[in-house]
Amino acid sequence: MDMVVQNIENFSRRRSQRPFLSIVAPCYNEEACLPEFYRRVTDAGRQAASEDYEIIFVNDGSRDRTREVMETLVASDPHVVAINLSRNFGHQLALTAGLQACSGARILIIDADLQDPPELLGAMMRKIDEGADVVYGRRSTREGETRFKVLSAKLFYRLLRTMIDVDIPADTGDFRLITRRVLDRLNSMPEHHRFIRGMVSWIGLKQVPLDYERDPRFAGTTEYPLLKMLRFAVDAVTGFSVTPLRTASFLGVALGLGSLMMVIYTLGSWLTGSTVDGWTSLTTIVLIIGSAQLVTLGVIGEYLGRLYMESKQRPLFIVDNVVSQQSSTPIRYDS
Ligand code: UDP
Ligand code: MG
Repeated sequence: MDMVVQNIENFSRRRSQRPFLSIVAPCYNEEACLPEFYRRVTDAGRQAASEDYEIIFVNDGSRDRTREVMETLVASDPHVVAINLSRNFGHQLALTAGLQACSGARILIIDADLQDPPELLGAMMRKIDEGADVVYGRRSTREGETRFKVLSAKLFYRLLRTMIDVDIPADTGDFRLITRRVLDRLNSMPEHHRFIRGMVSWIGLKQVPLDYERDPRFAGTTEYPLLKMLRFAVDAVTGFSVTPLRTASFLGVALGLGSLMMVIYTLGSWLTGSTVDGWTSLTTIVLIIGSAQLVTLGVIGEYLGRLYMESKQRPLFIVDNVVSQQSSTPIRYDS
């Protein structure tokens, strides 16, 4: 079968028929997982939608043979579409690329590493049949993940929930089945610093959980080292809350009250004539106030930086090309 390589705009416009189901999976260095993932996701897709499904793989600038593996899959199966990004843009943006290109009435968002079992699709479908707009996977166990990751994730979600107005459920990832009307709203949100699970929650409508056990990675390693996780956490907080910007006020009031007591103490010391010592207290005070100022400046900087990046209005990602079997006139767009 001929493969067709084209640009993403053409790709979305050319598709006259919408499939019932789109399965979207971002992939970064997943050559070892892909064949097995493809097999299981195809089974699940067939069962849920017979032939009426598409599988969209987004290759997020992988450095291994992910691209070649994807192209083999495309060549052998008309359901498969491979989107190659121009470089690594990160999980959330790669997912966004897939979500903008897919055209199904229902959309399954799933990681390619098989941590989220594709077999849950059937159960998710039933919940949508019953009227839900979003069915999100809620993890009851996280096998194969370090205790630190589980604990930090737990802590983070609890903290996040105290800071934001949107109800982002704890212990969820991006694994979910959503309806077209939810996806259209999601695709219309232009922000660069994306925290997709939160954005979906923000949309509202009827969102229901589906509990499942999260499996260990099928192969390969997680591409979310601690630093990246932290950055993701900051994206989540700043994307949904301005509470941190109020740190300055909180700290100001707290330190102000402290200062008031210090003033009384200082005046008392002056009155009783014992005023020379005090290097320790003075240094402590200078240090505390100095770090409080730096912290609040840092928080303001986080928001200002985001404001700056958003104000550039750059595209979210760059597509190298889209590879599929679906076109009569091939267009090459891969320079
Ligand atoms: N991923 C991606 N770009 C990246 C990092 C990850 O597209 O820069 C994909 C990865 O291939 C996987 C999913 O995003 O399908 C989740 O990544 P990972 O399993 O490393 O994260 P974790 O499950 O540990 O949160
Ligand atoms: Mg994973």
